[in-house]
Amino acid sequence: MEKIQYDFKKRTHKVELPKKLGFGKLFADLFFEMDYTPEKGWYNPVIKRVENLSIHPGSMFIHYGQAIFEGLKAFKTEDGRITIFRPKAHIQRLNISAKRICIPQVDEEFLLQVLTELVSIESDWIPTNPGESLYIRPVIYGTDPFLGVKPSSDYKLFILLSPVGAYYPEGFKPVKILVQDNYVRAVRKGLGECKTPANYAASLLAAKEAKEKGFTQVLWLDGIEQKYIEEVGTMNIFVEFKDEIATPKLTGSILPGVTRRSVIQILKDKGLNVTERLINVEEVVDAYNNGSLVSVFGTGTAAVISPVGWLTYKGIEMTLNNGQPSKLAQELFRELNSLHILKIEDKYDWVVEVNKEEIEV
Ligand SMILES: *Cc1c(COP(=O)(O)O)cnc(C)c1O
Repeated sequence: MEKIQYDFKKRTHKVELPKKLGFGKLFADLFFEMDYTPEKGWYNPVIKRVENLSIHPGSMFIHYGQAIFEGLKAFKTEDGRITIFRPKAHIQRLNISAKRICIPQVDEEFLLQVLTELVSIESDWIPTNPGESLYIRPVIYGTDPFLGVKPSSDYKLFILLSPVGAYYPEGFKPVKILVQDNYVRAVRKGLGECKTPANYAASLLAAKEAKEKGFTQVLWLDGIEQKYIEEVGTMNIFVEFKDEIATPKLTGSILPGVTRRSVIQILKDKGLNVTERLINVEEVVDAYNNGSLVSVFGTGTAAVISPVGWLTYKGIEMTLNNGQPSKLAQELFRELNSLHILKIEDKYDWVVEVNKEEIEV
């Protein structure tokens, strides 16, 4: 790969982050981009000021949705070191998503280098209050101006940075979830396990209708029988029974979350009975009725752990753990947050530390 180019002037004033950071509204001033053609491969990698992209109205991704993305986070430790959480797992998943929708592969080592350089240069944009982070959003999309359906030949990859606040500034806030049996998000062998905008397009109406009824999000059931629970909007789901912590197995319609994987590993290491299997929604209702359901929680990069306080299925309203996060959910939340900023030992080698670079431009 070519060397990464720097095309920006040195910042002359300090970065001032607002006290209240939401999610995804504020962007760092620099981003990364590179292009692809079949002849050149990936070329012209450059870190530059965020600017509007110039897109031909015929660009294929607009018409046929050939696009993928990732979402990961960088943190600052209490003693000022910079970390990125599981970047290799996210880069691998980007390539897996790419394969599914005919986007060319990216050199994983090179992309890791890009991530670390970009985060290093933009480290002043990493907020430092507990739970805050710099959200990293890599995207790849097909750019050929062409109205026929086929994979694009040319592509753009960019990485955008957004300082984000703690998902729960006042501590955990359990969410209210509607089990969705009116629409489906994805079907097995479809795009469900691919991080592509199409899955979100499929989810919007269900989420909107659920919000109008006072729910935070929906829990999707499998696309074929509408029987097995799959995942929540942007999160994977775990069901804590009295003697088992179960999460839906990856059947092809579920996004294989990195947080999901981390949580499974941590639970296993605690010696807990964690299983990946089909979970019938009726089984969850039965467990609720006979008192063996302890809690339900979601896992994902944005919220890390999101306790479900209320779950509604076909008019049956279930209040889980008195609408409070379970002990286990709290423990996992604390543990992952501590790991992000190396307050506990990183025995899994998940955290990549980034050296702060003084870039001469
Ligand atoms: C990104 C995503 C998740 C969570 O994955 P993480 O790697 O844990 O952030 C879950 N479901 C969907 C649909 C997603 O797009």
